[in-house]
Formats: sequence, structure tokens, C-alpha cells
Amino acid sequence: MIPRYLVPFHPKRVPHYHVDLLVIGGGLAGLRAALAAAPEQSVLVITKDSIRQSNSNYAQGGIASVLAPEDRFEDHVADTLTAGGTLCHPEVAERVVREAPQRIAELIAWGTHFDEEDGQLLLGREGGHSARRIVHALGDATGREVMRVVIERARAAPNLQIWERAFTIDLLTQEGTCRGALIWNQQHGKTLIWAKQTILCTGGAGQVYRETTNPAVATGDGQAVALRAGAELRDMEFMQFHPTVLYIAGSSRSLITEAMRGEGAWLVDRNGYRFMQDYDPRLELAPRDVVSQAIVAQMEKTRAANVFLDLSHLDAKYVRQRFPGIAATCAEFGIDIARQRIPVRPGAHYMIGGVTVDLDGRVDIPGLWGAGEVTSSGLHGANRLASNSLLEGLVYGAQVGELASNAAREIPDDFRALSLDNATPDAGGEPLDLADIRNALKSLMWRAAGVRRDGATLAEAIESVESWCLYVLSRQFADPEGWELQNMLTVSWMMLRAALLREESRGVHLRTDFPKLDEPHWRRHIGFRRSADGQLREGTEAPGAKGGS
Ligand SMILES: Cc1cc2nc3c(=O)[nH]c(=O)nc-3n(C[C@H](O)[C@H](O)[C@H](O)COP(=O)(O)OP(=O)(O)OC[C@H]3O[C@@H](n4cnc5c(N)ncnc54)[C@H](O)[C@@H]3O)c2cc1C
Repeated sequence: MIPRYLVPFHPKRVPHYHVDLLVIGGGLAGLRAALAAAPEQSVLVITKDSIRQSNSNYAQGGIASVLAPEDRFEDHVADTLTAGGTLCHPEVAERVVREAPQRIAELIAWGTHFDEEDGQLLLGREGGHSARRIVHALGDATGREVMRVVIERARAAPNLQIWERAFTIDLLTQEGTCRGALIWNQQHGKTLIWAKQTILCTGGAGQVYRETTNPAVATGDGQAVALRAGAELRDMEFMQFHPTVLYIAGSSRSLITEAMRGEGAWLVDRNGYRFMQDYDPRLELAPRDVVSQAIVAQMEKTRAANVFLDLSHLDAKYVRQRFPGIAATCAEFGIDIARQRIPVRPGAHYMIGGVTVDLDGRVDIPGLWGAGEVTSSGLHGANRLASNSLLEGLVYGAQVGELASNAAREIPDDFRALSLDNATPDAGGEPLDLADIRNALKSLMWRAAGVRRDGATLAEAIESVESWCLYVLSRQFADPEGWELQNMLTVSWMMLRAALLREESRGVHLRTDFPKLDEPHWRRHIGFRRSADGQLREGTEAPGAKGGS
């Protein structure tokens, strides 16, 4: 049973705020959307932590775009569809790929310094791309540079306000239309934000796993609030794992970019054996899912907690220059990346599934739009092509920002608070050790819905999550720790359930008990929706772009 709202609120007892556009999330998708609003409109951007804490800020490799004279849009589209398979929506890939050069040019015009050589953009190549087409910045810190520019621009826009450390608890809906959101911050407590149009850009859900590259903010809040408001979510079984995440006790789980393998790094096991030769002829440059699966298999075979990246056979000076960020992080733990092996293992990286949006970025709740990692647009199918996600955030962000701004222009100002039905259950009881449940959930997700899955383990995990949901979702909490856990449980349940239902292996979803692709039977999206009685309904649907202009 999923409650409609996590907490009660009474319109007479909370502050109210009215805006034209509410953008929930200040990563690349959210800020790009906010910057597309008409200058006379009031726009409010909400971020859960400081604005620097987003997946966008930590992106390393870069942004994919056809920029080289010998490259072609058709090839970028074909590479995207090859990676994602038949669950991709070709119309979406076409639109995103063709708009990429314009979005990159705009970032440059706004002041982004992408890496160059002799005045020409340096284009990198990543796994799955048939050409050099990745623009990157500061070597391996593309997200930091791009976010520097869009944050500066957003802060300078007179019509735009940013509220940091403001937690979105729920979307407000009245008669099936989105009217804004209920948020919470330390100074004012609960606040009702009334918006003519609302754009959801809350990013991913990597934090439901013990091992993840995602920062602490990525707890799947946007997916859960959209579900409670009545939106459809789909493709939740597709979590992409990054094969090489730094694994040092006590360190943050930093991603070690695949560009390192592109430059010639070897993957070796605890005995120094270069094991990829046993799994794939493309060795270290096999696709991400293949490398992740090989690493997990080798870890099991050698009974080790990790494998290693080895660059000691490459030019030491070049290695330190090419990967300055990773070199600095490893140096803090006494590892010289040019001479010593770097301990790595896979980690949850990118949430492919999410809130279903149409070709324009509309959610199926009037007044609500979505962009970026929180959504399922159909671009990534069952496996995301490297460096296509920042691009998706840019393209969809710009698009929904403009369309939502046009829609808001049609709605007259109305500064009344609406009366909403918000009865919220509270089972009460002994205080709960929320950190304990959270840790147990993260470990369970890693074991049951990690790189390799099987029916029996998934079914057991669903039972555990359902038992936690019984006493956690029926309570009211007073701060983000409780709400995040409620969201993580909701999102995890959908991920486990979809992974159990999909009895085949496709893209990033590997079922050891169903190791083969079952096309055309499973060429379907698995979707979830909350019905009015609070129950979750599930269904499947053939892929195909929904609506849009
Ligand atoms: C380490 C790392 C490296 C990556 N490298 C690349 C790369 O090289 N190329 C590429 O294309 N992709 C890369 N990705 C993926 C890419 O960064 C993300 O998919 C993309 O940045 C998502 O952008 P977004 O705007 O949708 O979400 P995010 O950038 O994650 O922003 C989410 C925003 O939502 C806010 N938020 C969340 N919940 C709430 C709430 N309850 N209330 C209020 N605000 C909330 C957060 O505070 C944040 O501001 C990488 C990801 C990681 C983690």
C-alpha cells in the first residue's frame, strides 16, 4: 500500500509560495530547463542539498555529439540503438542526436571550456561509439566545468531563484492535475509551492545500492513522488553498473572512467592475471555490462572483494597528466596510479528506467514535465550508450523548459491555495533505527538486484522489502531521513519486481536463470502505476514513442 502523501499538511498552517514554473532538481537537466523559461516568468529551482551535489557535477567522461566532419548523425543514432536494443525508441534517439551540436555550441557560447588542441575541440572515443564524438573538460571532470557555467548563468538570471537544501516531499495534485509541490527546509518547515507548471529533474537512484558511483542525493525521490502522484514508471529493472569503481575501505566510491581502459589500462585479478581474455575478444574495451559481469565472475572465481586496474606498463607522465582527478584521489590513499594497481569493482551507476515521458518530455499528469535521469524517455532502451545521458538532460531540459514556459503563459495568475485531500496514515509505534533499515536495504539490493540476478533471490528480496514497507510506509516522519527511506523502499520494490518479471537477459539486466534474450516476447516495457486505492498496478507495453510534437 503506497500512501498518496508522506506527511499531512494543512493549508492554513504552512507558508505558501506562488511561481510560474517550479523546477525540482538543480542538475544539468533542471538548470537547462530553468534557463529556457521566458524572462518575464518567475522560476523556482529546488535542490535537496547544495546545488553542487548532483550526478551532473560528478560526470567525468563527457558529452556525446556529432561534431567531427567525418562523423554522421545516422551513426550516432545507430550506435545508440545498438547499445539499447529494441526497447529504444528510434524517434527519441533521432531527436536527441540531431539536437546535440546545437546544445554543445550553446554551452561553449555560455563559457564552457571543453578540452581543445590547436584551437580544435578534442573529441574522445568511448565504448560503443563508432567515431570520436565525446567532448570533455578538465581532462576527467566534464560535469564540474559544465555545471560551473550553468550554475553561474542560473544565478545571474533575474527571474530565477534557487532554493538549496529544500527537500521535495510530494507533488501536489488536484483533480488529476499537478499544481506544484510540498517541500521542506530547516528554516520554514513544510511549505506549499504552487506552480502553473512543474518540471521534475531529480536524477537517479544509485543510493539504493551498497556500491554506487552516485552522490548521496541520488535516492530515487523523484521516481517515488511521481508514482505517489499517479504517474507511470517503467523499465525499473534496468540499472546500469559501472565496471570500475574505486574500492578502498573508507574512501568514497569514485568512478574510474572507462577512458582509462581506452588509454590501455589492463584489468587484472588478485594474482595479476589479465582475465578479460577469458570472457570477451574485445578484452578491456568490451561493453560496460560485459566487463561488469566478467569482473563479478572473476571476483567469485578468485574469492576476492575486487579486481585491479593496472597502468604500470604505460608512460607514467602521460598517465598522471591524462587523469589528474583520479590520480589525486588515489594519491590520498597512498596509490600512485602510474605505478601501482588501482582496486576496483562494479557499482550502480545510471538508472535507465524512471518516470515515463512522451517525445516532448510530458508526464501523463497534466501540468507535470520531466527531464534527465529521473525519466524514461526511450532513448537508452535496455543499455545506455556512454556519454548520452548528459546529452539527454540537455536536450530534454531545453525542450521541457520551453514547452512548460509556453504552457504557463496560457494560465492566468491565481494566488489562492487549493484545498487538497491529504489524509495520511500514521501507524505510530516504537522509534525505528532508520540507518539500520537503510543499510540492510542497500546490501540486499546489491545481492539481489546487482550485476547478476536470479528468480529465487529476487523473490526472497521482494518479501524482505515488503515486510519493511509494511511498517515504514505506514508511518509519518518529520525529516528527510525518513522520507528518503520511504522513497528508497518504494523504488527498490519496483526494481526488484520488474527484475523478477523479466524472465530473460537483455542489456544491463542479466538473469542467470534466463541467460538468453527472449525477443520478441520480452520486447516490452514493464510499467507501474499507483491506483486510487494505494495499490501498485503493473503492466507491460510494446515500445513506441508516446505523443509529443
Ligand atoms: C560519477 C559519475 C560519472 C558520470 N559520467 C558521465 C559522463 O561522462 N557522461 C554522461 O553523459 N553521463 C555521465 N554520468 C551520468 C550523468 O551524470 C547523469 O545521468 C546526469 O548528470 C543526470 O542529470 P540530472 O540533471 O537528470 O540529475 P542530477 O544531476 O543528479 O540532479 C538531480 C538534482 O535533483 C535534486 N533532488 C533530488 N531529489 C530531490 C528532492 N527530494 N528534493 C529536491 N531536490 C532533489 C538534487 O539535489 C539535484 O540537484 C555520470 C554519473 C556519475 C554518477
